[in-house]
Amino acid sequence: MSAPGYEAVIGLEVHAQLLTKTKQFCGCPTTFGAEPNTNVCPVCLGLPGALPVLNHESVAMAVRTALALGCTIRERSIFARKNYFYPDLPKGYQISQYDLPFSEHGSLEIAAEGDPSVTRRVGITRVHLEEDAGKNLHGVAEVPGKSVIDLNRSGVPLMEIVGEPDLRGPAEAVDYLKRLRDILVALEVNDGNLEEGSFRCDVNISVRRKGSAAYGTRVEIKNVNSFRHVHRAIEHETARLVDLAESGQTFKQHTRQWDDESGRTVFLREKEGSDDYRYFPDPDLPPLVIDERWVGELRASIPELPAARRERLVRELKLPAKDAEVLTGHPKIGDYFEKVLQARPGDAAWAKRAANFVMTEVLADTRVHGLSIELPVTAAQLVELLSLVDAQTISGKQAKEVFAAIKGTAQSPEAYVGDKGMAQVSDAVAIEAICRALITANPKQVAAWKAGKKGIIGFFVGAVMKETKGSANPALLNEILERLLAE
Ligand SMILES: [Zn+2]
Repeated sequence: MSAPGYEAVIGLEVHAQLLTKTKQFCGCPTTFGAEPNTNVCPVCLGLPGALPVLNHESVAMAVRTALALGCTIRERSIFARKNYFYPDLPKGYQISQYDLPFSEHGSLEIAAEGDPSVTRRVGITRVHLEEDAGKNLHGVAEVPGKSVIDLNRSGVPLMEIVGEPDLRGPAEAVDYLKRLRDILVALEVNDGNLEEGSFRCDVNISVRRKGSAAYGTRVEIKNVNSFRHVHRAIEHETARLVDLAESGQTFKQHTRQWDDESGRTVFLREKEGSDDYRYFPDPDLPPLVIDERWVGELRASIPELPAARRERLVRELKLPAKDAEVLTGHPKIGDYFEKVLQARPGDAAWAKRAANFVMTEVLADTRVHGLSIELPVTAAQLVELLSLVDAQTISGKQAKEVFAAIKGTAQSPEAYVGDKGMAQVSDAVAIEAICRALITANPKQVAAWKAGKKGIIGFFVGAVMKETKGSANPALLNEILERLLAE
């Protein structure tokens, strides 16, 4: 996608809000949507003399994430103060990990740019812990023309996942983000919500001549809040940087913002160097010590991750990779599908039929919100419904009608089919009687069939289906018609 002769060099920084009950350094709740400035205390308000105490739960979540990404865990790490002024940062500094993060050197497997059937590993530089700032609000109805600050978010636990500049295009970047999001959601440490900002992405990008090992000057695109925006922003920025390089223009490293409406990035500010932040170890916090025994316990608590589950579904159920990908995108969808198969074990063909129905019908009516999910029918209802198709009581087409009728209710598919008299007519005698009457009444069509116009059988099938309100077993019907027409 980039101009011939050039390649993009992309690294992503993800800030993920950890799903702890309380904040990073105080006991204030992290609940979203509370009255402004009610979930606050002297620590997260940054009042002088207040002492931070590290949240044990947030460390556990971040360590599990780092382990899932194959990082090594440093036994002793340090929290530093990152100093800067901003109205939503009352302390005048953010507590973060800087030169001694608790983990480093991980990796993530993604699909390669241009050929998604090829996978490759990209590096994870580090995972570290920090805290969120408050929120500046502009144009609030109660205080027109003024800006106000809500500090409920101040001190909410964040985990930063810094990726190596190993990505080479927009498809790789989006795949990296999706797989990372899926892992965090499977670990239940983050709700994966880009739109609501609990999973935020900064894109670092530069371009260089293919084959060159040197890096070009990079720009950072801040807070891109959807997968689609990430894709578009990288496409646009690559082209813009290649144009600059081609015309020989140089520029200073800086921060930009994606404007989706105009479809371009705009200059935000010159990039601060790390010197500007005057990092130094926070004297209020002792070093973070993560001993080997605790690491072992946390490692043991990691569930099967999406990539492993995908491979298992392909290996054990012979599902196409594409299906396995869809079914493992959200852990609750994977659980649901596996519950269906546990309730009614069967061969690969059955697994594929169940997968098809889940992907085309069930998922179309499934509401996902972060970690929670609302399914239109239970696994038990779905098994009952698909069993009716397998027993040829109803056709596949009728199954979709039954699904549409019972979704969102506790109704039993079997009872519904019984009530509506939908059961497929599999009674050969009954079908044969209808066919015989039709053949007698339509000699012209019979003659045409005998003369070789085999397609005319559709006329008889249609007529029988009309008579039986679509409930004749299609395979049986075809067999009977062919036999009677040939008589
Ligand atoms: Zn607090």
